[in-house]
Amino acid sequence: MRKAVIAVPPVRDFYFTPRRATALGAGVLDRELKKTGWKTSLLNLPLMDKPRTVPLPDELEYLNSSIIPGETGPLSWFTAFRRFGPLFSDAAEIIAREKPDTLFISSFAWAYAEEARRLAEAAARRMPELPIVIGGHGPSSLPEYFLNASHPVFPEKPLFTRVISGEIEGRGEVLKINESGIRYLDLRDLKSNREIKPVAGESVIRAGRRSISIILTRGCPKKCRFCSNHICHGRIFRSSPPNLWEEEVIRIAEQISGRNGKIHLNIEDDNILFLKKDFFDFLGSLKRQFSDITFTAENGLDYMFLEENDINRLKKNGFTHLNLSLGVLSDNTRTNENRAGNTEKLAKLIQRCREVDLPLTTHFICGLAGDSSKDIVQTLRFLDGLPTQIGISNFYPVPGLEGFTDTEVFLNNPPRLALGSSVYPWTGALSSTQLITAFRLSRWSNFRKKMERSLLPDTEFSIEKELYSRIKKSHQLHTIHRERGKDRERVVVPVEHLDETMVAEFFS
Ligand code: SF4
Repeated sequence: MRKAVIAVPPVRDFYFTPRRATALGAGVLDRELKKTGWKTSLLNLPLMDKPRTVPLPDELEYLNSSIIPGETGPLSWFTAFRRFGPLFSDAAEIIAREKPDTLFISSFAWAYAEEARRLAEAAARRMPELPIVIGGHGPSSLPEYFLNASHPVFPEKPLFTRVISGEIEGRGEVLKINESGIRYLDLRDLKSNREIKPVAGESVIRAGRRSISIILTRGCPKKCRFCSNHICHGRIFRSSPPNLWEEEVIRIAEQISGRNGKIHLNIEDDNILFLKKDFFDFLGSLKRQFSDITFTAENGLDYMFLEENDINRLKKNGFTHLNLSLGVLSDNTRTNENRAGNTEKLAKLIQRCREVDLPLTTHFICGLAGDSSKDIVQTLRFLDGLPTQIGISNFYPVPGLEGFTDTEVFLNNPPRLALGSSVYPWTGALSSTQLITAFRLSRWSNFRKKMERSLLPDTEFSIEKELYSRIKKSHQLHTIHRERGKDRERVVVPVEHLDETMVAEFFS
């Protein structure tokens, strides 16, 4: 039987969370390979070593003035660039130990395309004859980046034996490496009645529970301009039969902790509320079978599909935290972005969450084309006035998004400029300083609300109390700094390199 190693490349970024390490795409590939007769080994490399601080890459030097080394506490921005997972050379050794016949690399985001390529190069140096196949969101966005890469040992040969765009689900047979010499497979436009199955990802321990991420559906017919979902999954919404959703949860729960273990299910779908009745039936049925189960939907639920009574049902069924997607507040930008919205409705839903004591984060996107710093301050003030935590996501492009179809721009610039954490001013609407100012203001709002609800006990957080009162009095953003030296004392310091106009407007 042929042996396939599926590798999720190490990540280099300012941060990485367990939710981003779910390797759902790699899980689908694993299933397809097994179905078509391969023996497999899945290496989720970002989870295979401790995070390490690495030098800030040259292309992110523009962030140097905004980084406060030694910064800590609730208002912190990023303090260090990190590698999650082993060195590429060590990763190649780990792969070699598995004795693969073929290496499959799952590139789950364009912004990490360089890491995918570097992993392939390291593996090719270690095993020069090994066929290497790459698929996922990275190659679906810009296959040329991978097709153009040359082999480090045989420069006349390509690095990747095959590059695949689109979904592999239901098409595992195309993974056979034969003599056909086809280097690029574009599966995005193939119409077929492929069977879609739910897939559960890597499980991690969070708050004493086994947390499992699961995705139940694929594709989205909506056309939010900022969204890259369609680039890999297309614009047709598809789901597996809802009875399979439950089967997959039961299968994975039994596999990891038995029926009596404490499990938390994070539902990754962007638009699960397209199937609202099935979704609530699914939650209710799981709650009956696993009385202690808890849920989140951390990619955010579309509030336009929710009614106030649904908030009570979500709480009753075991939601521990609700994430709602505001997307964008300003009417103009919302229209430009093809996004529906109703802020009055959103405010009522948020209030209902408070009434039923369901913690909530409302997410918005910052830095869209047409945004102004005034719009962003208005959004922050709107959310600041409501009982919700604020989740801020910086806009970042993916090759192929409307307005970002010039492939040369992406082939001639490092992919990591498209990290959300790089706060690169892609649309020119807001500068990097303004994007960071908005981030810090949102953190202040979250911190203020926690302090005012006394969620931080009086005794233990004196430095946080000082931070709170300094900002309240001065209307200037401050943060906590850990001093160098033996005692590593924490002190409150003002934050520099901000957009002072945005700060003044926020506090006015
Ligand atoms: S943001 Fe959500 S609703 Fe909009 S296109 Fe993307 S997946 Fe669909």
